[in-house]
Amino acid sequence: MEPANSPLYQPLHLPILEEKEVQVTVKRLDRMHPSLQGNKYYKLRYNIREAIKQDVKTVLTFGGAYSNHIHATAFACKQAGLRSIGLIRGEISQPLNPTLSDAVKNGMELHLLSRSEYREKQSQALLESLGRKFGEFYLIPEGGTNALAIQGTQEILTGADTSMDVIALPVGTGGTFAGVASRARPGQQVLGFSALKGDFIRKEVAQLMHTHGIQPRCTWEIRTDFHFGGYARFNTELIDFLRDMRLQAKLPLDPVYTGKMVWGLLALVQADHFPKGSRLLVLHTGGLQGIRGFNERHGSQL
Ligand SMILES: *Cc1c(COP(=O)(O)O)cnc(C)c1O
Repeated sequence: MEPANSPLYQPLHLPILEEKEVQVTVKRLDRMHPSLQGNKYYKLRYNIREAIKQDVKTVLTFGGAYSNHIHATAFACKQAGLRSIGLIRGEISQPLNPTLSDAVKNGMELHLLSRSEYREKQSQALLESLGRKFGEFYLIPEGGTNALAIQGTQEILTGADTSMDVIALPVGTGGTFAGVASRARPGQQVLGFSALKGDFIRKEVAQLMHTHGIQPRCTWEIRTDFHFGGYARFNTELIDFLRDMRLQAKLPLDPVYTGKMVWGLLALVQADHFPKGSRLLVLHTGGLQGIRGFNERHGSQL
């Protein structure tokens, strides 16, 4: 699956890491699959399998107009021969942005949900009306986190990763974090960087782990101080940082998740948060498809 010329592990070389004697390796999950990047590959895998097993021909899910989850679901359904329906929050502008345009090319039917309908997306009334409209469907929640998604993300860490001291990853719903934490070893720390503003995420992730019977043997922490003002917010410093990382460290990062994580991690390195000799593993969870739409919208050159 992995093209021979793009290895899964990329050592990061930066002056700050030399200076602080901290070793950082990036696990490029974004290279797992060209169209189904990063953690979404893991989160969708068993869900698609389950839809097929249940003999449901349609998968329905929710997301924003630039959603990596929408993008990945469309592709995964096409590959599996399933019909896919994407309910998009807010607006679908024409011409379609690159995310939605790819989704449509992969056969996804897009429907608009107003922001107020979107807030009700888990309600029985809305689900019933969707059933009348589209027929029977397999529902994948917004962000794709459910039991089968977590089962999938439990496969992200592999044998080679057991020697690392810290495993860093971005956090949205926390589904990926929960799966990774469930597999990390005693003595390792799983360090999440929330893409959203607010401390609620710690409780939410603890609850998610509880619901899914996950009792990590590692220690874990979620940083909530590197969101740059909130989900998908950014400033020019972040944009410059992303460009530098791509050009100088040969590491492409997205502005919503992975970029903020690596920024946060390097800020912690700078602040001597990690002892000398620490080995850090960064999980690159993908999201690069969103860069096209980001550039289009903000006139940037990531
Ligand atoms: C969806 C996504 C996340 C968040 O994953 P969760 O399981 O919801 O925490 C992180 N990084 C990228 C690139 C994503 O697309």
